[in-house]
Amino acid sequence: MNEAPGPGDAPRRRVVLVTTGGTIATSVDADGVARPTHSGSALAQGLPTVVALDVVDLLAADSSELQPSDWDRIGAEVAAAVRGGADGVVVTHGTDTMEETALWLDLTYDGDVPVVLTGAMRSADAPDADGPANLAAAVALAGNRESRGLGVAVTLSGTVWQPLGLTKTGSGFVGTVMAPTARERTYFGALRAAAAPRVDVVAVYAGSDAVALDACVAAGARGLVLAALGSGNAGAAVIDGVHRARRAGVEVVVSTRVPGARVTVGYGPGRMLVDAGAVVAPSLPAPQARVLLMAALAAGRSVRDVFAVLG
Ligand code: ASP
Repeated sequence: MNEAPGPGDAPRRRVVLVTTGGTIATSVDADGVARPTHSGSALAQGLPTVVALDVVDLLAADSSELQPSDWDRIGAEVAAAVRGGADGVVVTHGTDTMEETALWLDLTYDGDVPVVLTGAMRSADAPDADGPANLAAAVALAGNRESRGLGVAVTLSGTVWQPLGLTKTGSGFVGTVMAPTARERTYFGALRAAAAPRVDVVAVYAGSDAVALDACVAAGARGLVLAALGSGNAGAAVIDGVHRARRAGVEVVVSTRVPGARVTVGYGPGRMLVDAGAVVAPSLPAPQARVLLMAALAAGRSVRDVFAVLG
């Protein structure tokens, strides 16, 4: 915990900081490789003391290494913080898979205590490190009275996004900017990601066959997300594979590999995918479409209905 207030000061808001690693916690070693080295208390040094901070060092990983079971571990720390009376929770996290963790937490958390994820684009030891400012903003947001009912949010570089629709780009994130106040949320239940059905993302490209798609089904996938072409197209071999997957009871969702594009299935191949029983994710990129499909399957919800509203 950071320093106590002086006599006569108002009681400080309590924020729990859960660290998981990522660039915000890295320093660059002698080989030029960025590795998470900074503990939560090191990250918290220099934060304004208007908020009382409790630190939980949960993981020190590159977020590319995280598993769905880690989303459960983060969720469990959030729940413990809430039970312990925290006014807000901050999770530091790598940006590579922040959009996935944030969406899973968002769909499985219905508390009023705000949960704010943040990270950094530059290492903690970089002269122009962005982590300290991002962390300070996240702690301020999580500790703010007005943030009650916010649910899960992501903040970096002074912007606050809702998890749904968030995508990492070369320079940061793009997504739906949200007001830092209470908002309407969709709760799928207290689901366990580690127990959710397997969902795989299948890349579609010029000349792709259905080898990867069939292998995912053989490996036990209950859902597939196609990172399809253009507005939601694929070649004949993939469409045949989608027919086979649907006959095997596997849900198929059509996303697109084109950043920022909408899936409208306005061309012949796209229509054939839908006719084969695939569901359209109009605007969610494949990584988040996968998380949404995992949650829909785990919650026993209609995939078509879920993607019509949230996809
Ligand atoms: N590879 C890092 C991670 O996701 C990237 C970052 O944090 O920006 O852990």
